[in-house]
Amino acid sequence: MASYLRSFAERASEVVFDQFGGRFHDLGPENIEESLSEEAQALYHEVFQDVDCSRIIDYHVHLVGQETERTGCYCHPSLLEGNNVLQRFKANCFLSAMNVKRDDSDEAYLERLMALCENGCPPRLVERDGGHWRMCGLALDYAHDTSGDANPGRTSLHIPNDYSYDVACKRHTSFIPTCSIHPYRADAVTELKRCRDRGVRLIKWLPNSQDLNPASAQCDAFYDAVREMDMVILSHTGDEHSLTAGSVENSYGNPLLLKRALDRGCKIIMAHCASEGTFLDLEANEPERSRRIPGVDLMIRMMSRPEYEGLLFADISAVIGTLRAKHLKTILSAEHIHDRLVYGSDYPVPAINVVSSTKQLWILGLITWKDAQLLNEIYRFNPLVYDFAVKRKLSFEGHRFPVTVFQEHPKLIMTHWRKNAPGKN
Ligand SMILES: [Zn+2]
Repeated sequence: MASYLRSFAERASEVVFDQFGGRFHDLGPENIEESLSEEAQALYHEVFQDVDCSRIIDYHVHLVGQETERTGCYCHPSLLEGNNVLQRFKANCFLSAMNVKRDDSDEAYLERLMALCENGCPPRLVERDGGHWRMCGLALDYAHDTSGDANPGRTSLHIPNDYSYDVACKRHTSFIPTCSIHPYRADAVTELKRCRDRGVRLIKWLPNSQDLNPASAQCDAFYDAVREMDMVILSHTGDEHSLTAGSVENSYGNPLLLKRALDRGCKIIMAHCASEGTFLDLEANEPERSRRIPGVDLMIRMMSRPEYEGLLFADISAVIGTLRAKHLKTILSAEHIHDRLVYGSDYPVPAINVVSSTKQLWILGLITWKDAQLLNEIYRFNPLVYDFAVKRKLSFEGHRFPVTVFQEHPKLIMTHWRKNAPGKN
């Protein structure tokens, strides 16, 4: 009886997590073409028709793992066990969105991601273009203190640089390797060079959860090395709510803090267009300086400066989230920055049911009611395609994201890395 009750309780909680997390069709992403209704199929083809599938790059896909001894990936203990109800709840919603179980190996998540990616573009168009889209699989360094030591207790998720690289080497048709290096590390520049020598170009930062102040003078030597090696920092901007188990300092998400890197000539991609949260206007004098301004406005202010042309970019990952969607009209209307936007999904985030709502996008007047229904149909088969399709369909007073956003940016080429991989050409 006790075991019956336990399994009933487990099943009931799974249903709840699936409600918040993922709720995917058992048929799987490989059956999307024949299983969608005729109208949804037409929309699915339409969003890929004018894109070169072989040049689609998702600049923002999270690698996730927990098998520290085997793969080096690390999750904060409060996400896996213990009494922190909020963190455990979040972790379970993420597991459901990722379509994996608590005890699955780290490969299970990769297999799911590969299935979504390989079955993303319609096969006919993959054949036409000679390839399908690729994903930058993000590494994530530990939080570090100002003396340069890693602090696992303040870290929510750690994905080693070697893990991202190995994943990409083994699955090079889908993944592009990245690195994540905390600039306070004593070996930061050495590690940067090691990654650069392997052909890695993208450096992921999540300052809010890494105890990393991008405006600190401690970053300067790192910034100079990034510029000299022509690498690119993809830095989270705006508030952070997902990775908060270790530590979180949202003032580090202020886009203005990245001026220090830009003024030293570094290339920066501001993740999420800083679409969540408000920040101090650090450029103003008092009393304006104490006023809080939406991050997205600060992002556009910086992107509008001629001196940052060719250096500053932004990704549109997570911008359709329920807490961020209210800023979509601003981003869609700012056509003068569209040539510097790149596509990102922030997967697994768009696979969380409660994070994105087509109903909300319809209420905001950004998609039609009909398309909202068809996009929901696509979501159940492939949340990665859903994210792509929604962003292709968004429209506000005639403003849309141009097709160039969804393809590799000529100034942010990431696909040459295999030239440097051992034994590859
Ligand atoms: Zn992210």
